Amino acid sequence: MKKEELREVKNMSVYYSSTRNGAEKLTASQAILKGLADDGGLFVPDKLPKLDVSLDKLKDMSYQETAYEVMKLLLTDFTEEELKNCINKAYDSKFDTEEIAPLVEADGAYYLELFHGSTIAFKDMALSILPHLLITSAKKNNIKNDIVILTATSGDTGKAALAGFSGVEGTKIIVFYPKNGVSPIQEKQMVTQKGDNTCVIGINGNFDQAQTGVKKMFADEALKKELEEKGYQFSSANSINIGRLVPQIVYYVYSYAKLYANNVIKKDEKINVVVPTGNFGNILAAYYAKNMGIPIAKLICASNENKVLFDFFKSGKYDKNREFILTNSPSMDILISSNLERLIYRIAGNNTEVNSKFMSDLRTKGSYEITDGMREELKDFYGNYTSEEETAEVIKKLYEDTGYVIDTHTAVAAGVFEKYKKETNDTETKTVIASTASPFKFTRSVMEAIDKDKYESLTDFELVDELSKIANVRVPNAIEEIRNAEILHDKVCDVDQMPEFVKDFLK
Ligand SMILES: *Cc1c(COP(=O)(O)O)cnc(C)c1O
Repeated sequence: MKKEELREVKNMSVYYSSTRNGAEKLTASQAILKGLADDGGLFVPDKLPKLDVSLDKLKDMSYQETAYEVMKLLLTDFTEEELKNCINKAYDSKFDTEEIAPLVEADGAYYLELFHGSTIAFKDMALSILPHLLITSAKKNNIKNDIVILTATSGDTGKAALAGFSGVEGTKIIVFYPKNGVSPIQEKQMVTQKGDNTCVIGINGNFDQAQTGVKKMFADEALKKELEEKGYQFSSANSINIGRLVPQIVYYVYSYAKLYANNVIKKDEKINVVVPTGNFGNILAAYYAKNMGIPIAKLICASNENKVLFDFFKSGKYDKNREFILTNSPSMDILISSNLERLIYRIAGNNTEVNSKFMSDLRTKGSYEITDGMREELKDFYGNYTSEEETAEVIKKLYEDTGYVIDTHTAVAAGVFEKYKKETNDTETKTVIASTASPFKFTRSVMEAIDKDKYESLTDFELVDELSKIANVRVPNAIEEIRNAEILHDKVCDVDQMPEFVKDFLK
């Protein structure tokens, strides 16, 4: 290669540094292996490159081809072969449609169905590729150890991580869940997980205790050393890992290209995107897609009654000091949206000091307030929320008007979209609503929203069959599988026994 060309390749490289201290620069594979920076900050790319393929090419691309075009720009230390290998192993027949993320029009909006993977919710979009990105990263950095994923789960992430890592050579996964703190279906999904490299353990305690127990093991140097000698090292599959964030940008690019391919929009026409939000990962990916050149007008951030983000967008003050509300969209019941830190860092002009100060206020006081200048940078966002009653009403009305059935999380987004249109009179812009879970995942809430009197007395699996009938949709494999599946994991332990159980599995 000539000198000139070499320089050009170098300039295209993207490096990652912490939102709290810019000194250390990591390659993508190093950032994926590390997950969280040592200073507690999140890794952010030093640039967001513009897509270098035309819309006329993108419109004919498969999901996998689109994924390559997006991910190659941000994971620049992966070779073409490595990246394509990860993509093809992730987005395969685990998904029940070749489109991977289909768009469905209902009542004038375009629902981007992100729930066609193994656990019928959107976490699959990232967790099916993360294991492959991780083991490829390990190889690239000459790590010979097997990667052991340790996670505590309150239900959904655990199963999606188990499904993603199951059978992936060079990895093991251990999931702890509160024995009496998850739904019967969630528990059954986990304890029937196949794969010799998987381990599921119930604990006598709540989710916070499980989480604390896992954090303790991550910090336990003696345990680390003992396992290192056996050829293991810990890693996490946390939603702040850039190996989860980057794959989520793909479906926003893909859906835009499909709207164009189907003549719904003209070239470069702006669209709105509505995202039901919890940890702010999914909507941040949409924001990154916009920065990479996808014409998005408004990023509409939808919350349930835990409306910290709505208040933040309205007032500029992030305040987690409030009652935690259990809703029927549990994956959005969050008071600290971790990924928001990446947006704060950016609107602070990539200033690590300013960001660190806010994050330290959040830790100590539970709140922080951004400056007027920073608020100016939030013009792209619109925030709102729906109450539990409104969410149920949205499900019922959409079903009655169109026959299309959506889950509770997606209904929060649809409800907020209605409020947005009323408030702004922006009724012309074509809009994509991220549909983050199959209605079969939250069958009871969905069916009771449609007709409480009729469905209240039915069992969970009876409701599944009813839903299949009224929505005219086949029962997804993920649900069929657990109906009669064999229980493969029955271990239960006390919180202080967690390390012993880990060692026992890794012996
Ligand atoms: C995780 C999750 C969300 C929230 O996504 P974030 O990236 O955390 O904002 C929304 N809906 C469902 C079904 C989820 O599982």
